[in-house]
Amino acid sequence: MNRVYNFSAGPSMLPLPVLKKAQDEMLSYGDTGMSVMEMSHRSKAYDDIIKDAERLLRELMNIPDNYKVMFLQGGGSTQFAMVALNLLNGSKKADYVKTGQWAKKAAAEASKYGEINIVASSEDKTFSYVPLLDKSKFTPDADYFYICQNNTIYGTRYTELPDTGSVPLVADLSSCIMSEVTDVSKYGLIFAGAQKNVGPAGVTIVIAREDLLGKAMDITPTMLDYKIHADNGSLYNTPPCYAVYVAKLVFEWLKDMGGVAEMQKINEEKAGLLYDCLDNSSMFKGTVVPKDRSLMNIPFVTTKGDKDLEAKFVKEAAASGLVNLKGHRTVGGMRASIYNAMPVEGVKALVDFINKFEKENK
Ligand SMILES: *Cc1c(COP(=O)(O)O)cnc(C)c1O
Repeated sequence: MNRVYNFSAGPSMLPLPVLKKAQDEMLSYGDTGMSVMEMSHRSKAYDDIIKDAERLLRELMNIPDNYKVMFLQGGGSTQFAMVALNLLNGSKKADYVKTGQWAKKAAAEASKYGEINIVASSEDKTFSYVPLLDKSKFTPDADYFYICQNNTIYGTRYTELPDTGSVPLVADLSSCIMSEVTDVSKYGLIFAGAQKNVGPAGVTIVIAREDLLGKAMDITPTMLDYKIHADNGSLYNTPPCYAVYVAKLVFEWLKDMGGVAEMQKINEEKAGLLYDCLDNSSMFKGTVVPKDRSLMNIPFVTTKGDKDLEAKFVKEAAASGLVNLKGHRTVGGMRASIYNAMPVEGVKALVDFINKFEKENK
């Protein structure tokens, strides 16, 4: 078996011990004589799995008791509408910060249901920074304030949360959940598609302050009402059973690794290695202003913008077992996504490859 270092932005690497555990339990989970894939979601065995997943997530993220945890379907993108349908219930206004494609899509979707105010944007420089926020532009009676905390495509992240006062902060953590310590109490609602840092595609995590639920618009489809899922322990209908199970294995792995604070240290080490390498290179450079650099997604280009050289880099890296390094089409160049499951050795291998490539192509 030959495993590569996979730098994909998502779906992305899973920890090897998790894949092995899933393999061990594939044909018969515990003493059930069946795979988790074949199991009724109403069975005792499955109930234990989904409850364990929630318990571990609460423990790892230190989620306060007045927050509900939901395991939903539809990916991060369904949340763009679900947030609006559930939370645009007062002034029907919300503030959004436009820091990339995902924030832009979220704002466009929400604007079908209410008045969306873009308080700041970094589109002028291809989203290569997180804009400073001017509080005088905030809508005082907004129903919520929305950010995309880590911008997967552009490689920026918020290192400080906006101070929104009593307006609930809603954040898309799809590409950074559990990569660094998060104070959940600062948010009204957090959501994250699983396929970057949590598990396979198919499950989406929502963490929501209880008092915000139960006020969805009348037009809200039942399946898009948070309260329905929260009241039913994410078992209103069939949940994405297997994806929740693998997420549970990832949570167990993360706990074994020492938890989120420990993972944050490892992530800072990994990102530091790669940014140092890029900062010291004369052939390559990162595309993001240093203060807003993501720990998870690291886009870089050749200093000369040499497209042929970039294509050669991506191709030769893949031949060396470092795959999916091609950048997003709107940024070009390369992007290394180094989520929790990417080991330090994988980043070291990439750094060695960058240095070798630079020498060989002078
Ligand atoms: C990947 C991603 C999404 C979209 O997730 P889907 O599950 O494909 O809908 C949304 N937001 C962010 C920040 C992402 O990285």
